[in-house]
Amino acid sequence: MVVVMASSLTVTNTLSSPKLKTLYKKLSIPIPTPLSSRLLYNPKTLSSLSLSLNLKHRSFAARADSQNGAEPPSHYDFDLFTIGAGSGGVRASRFAANFGASVAVCELPFSPISSETTGGVGGTCVLRGCVPKKLMVYASHYSHEFEESRGFGWKYDVEPKHDWSTLMANKNAELQRLTGIYKNVLKNAGVTLIEGRGKIVDPHTIDVDGKLYSARHILISVGGRPFIPEIPGSEYVIDSDAALDLPSKPEKIAIVGGGYIALEFAGIFNGLTTEVHVFIRQKKVLRGFDEEIRDFVAEQISLRGIEFHTEESPQAIIKSSDGSLSLKTNKGTAEGFSHVMFATGRRPNTKNLGLETVGVKMTKNGAIEVDEYSRTSVPSIWAVGDVTDRVNLTPVALMEGGALAKTLFQNEPTKPDYRAIPSAVFSQPPIGQVGLTEEQAIREYGDVDIFMANFRPLKATLSGLPDRVLMKLVVCAKTNKVLGLHMCGEDSPEIVQGFAVAVKAGLTKADFDATVGIHPTAGEEFVTMRTPTRKIRQTAEGKTDSEVKATAGV
Ligand SMILES: Cc1cc2nc3c(=O)[nH]c(=O)nc-3n(C[C@H](O)[C@H](O)[C@H](O)COP(=O)(O)OP(=O)(O)OC[C@H]3O[C@@H](n4cnc5c(N)ncnc54)[C@H](O)[C@@H]3O)c2cc1C
Repeated sequence: MVVVMASSLTVTNTLSSPKLKTLYKKLSIPIPTPLSSRLLYNPKTLSSLSLSLNLKHRSFAARADSQNGAEPPSHYDFDLFTIGAGSGGVRASRFAANFGASVAVCELPFSPISSETTGGVGGTCVLRGCVPKKLMVYASHYSHEFEESRGFGWKYDVEPKHDWSTLMANKNAELQRLTGIYKNVLKNAGVTLIEGRGKIVDPHTIDVDGKLYSARHILISVGGRPFIPEIPGSEYVIDSDAALDLPSKPEKIAIVGGGYIALEFAGIFNGLTTEVHVFIRQKKVLRGFDEEIRDFVAEQISLRGIEFHTEESPQAIIKSSDGSLSLKTNKGTAEGFSHVMFATGRRPNTKNLGLETVGVKMTKNGAIEVDEYSRTSVPSIWAVGDVTDRVNLTPVALMEGGALAKTLFQNEPTKPDYRAIPSAVFSQPPIGQVGLTEEQAIREYGDVDIFMANFRPLKATLSGLPDRVLMKLVVCAKTNKVLGLHMCGEDSPEIVQGFAVAVKAGLTKADFDATVGIHPTAGEEFVTMRTPTRKIRQTAEGKTDSEVKATAGV
């Protein structure tokens, strides 16, 4: 370890040099000018300059050409300063450090509920998203499995009971373990972790709770937070953060929203025996998903006891004297809820981040605008993950963070690849999908063949439950390429993850047909669907014609 003191402004710059300059030219990034003397001799900055740096790090501090031809050294505390240690920030920081950069990341103090002042290393996915949500999904599955098991001969003398506090305690212990693991991942990579709220002061300076740090590059990976529209009574509403950390199980919940988070929580609470009502503004859930999948999942979810209230917009929440909540919508008032949850979208955490001051461009929703390399309108400032509102999923934030580290510190400009990103909805039953929906494929390719299977899975034959599975392949009629693959039914996220490789690789329906199935599984349907359910052809007038060849569901 070496301590770099303020006086060591002449720190050797191993990449000042043609290599770094070529990279900067490739990316058309202006080579930054030296730091102002204000910054260099600011006592707050000086204190940060004495941070211990791991020797394995090459210094990427560059020299900028001066007016008189001499090359005064330009030095930053760090090559990369990341604001936000969620999926994207941790990935970019860790990779950058592994490539030899000196890296710091700042993150808000831990709390299960996020706010302007609380967060925690690991970010939304680990602490308030994918992980706790999936643990709750597991917890809620059992009630369905108990029901299924009866047809297989299981008997329960006493009805199984669920203990909410055990679930919460175990889930919270797991979150603590995970945030610890993420801290270790950063530490082992040699990344300096600073606890506090980051704010940008100028294109190379970050303020963390009053302390200034300078960096050649700044990465903004602050993610987003739940958005609740301001209507009367919105103070009684819980969001997804709170829904994952309730002190007791809701007796009866209204969930407002038709997106994936709303459906996942509906399944969680329903499985844990809460009475669940879902209110959606549109006619259908899951805008953007394949139309048939949207219809199918809503039907299957309804069969499990969740009540949908379609085309209802919330107008107010009223609290009664007995503490129960009513939800007033454009169609009437539904009463007697112990909880009202809004899953009405998320907004990027870009307020009070100093972005307007330095000129980072944002959309009207507050998302940071970036180019294909995740560079903002300010050349030294970059952004990845949900804060850019591209595809708001953990693996995408990871991909963007990894690509950025390569671009900046491995002399390998890398664009994230957004083609065929698979995704899942952990509703009950769940959905897995990759590639184009039927509607997108028709728009893009015109002539497509649809292969579909809608069947009762083997398990349901003995369980006697009305569970079904829908599987669908969208194939380009001209090239035979599988453009999209969709499934709703047990295990579909696991199955589709495997098939996503085939879709991403551009395999054809013939490749699928040539693959031997695994029997007896639901997944084998994807390689045994021989006859198109319908052939869709663009007519000369540009109209879509559908020729139905076989009926699904046989
Ligand atoms: C309920 C829910 C379920 C989800 N389920 C899934 C799923 O199943 N699969 C999936 O792929 N995705 C899922 N997601 C989405 C996924 O969690 C996000 O896409 C992912 O976490 C984005 O990563 P990120 O790095 O952009 O931001 P985040 O993970 O949100 O990290 C941002 C970090 O920045 C910190 N921060 C904010 N402001 C500051 C500041 N000024 N200074 C310092 N730190 C700051 C925050 O505290 C936070 O830790 C889910 C999200 C939610 C809400």
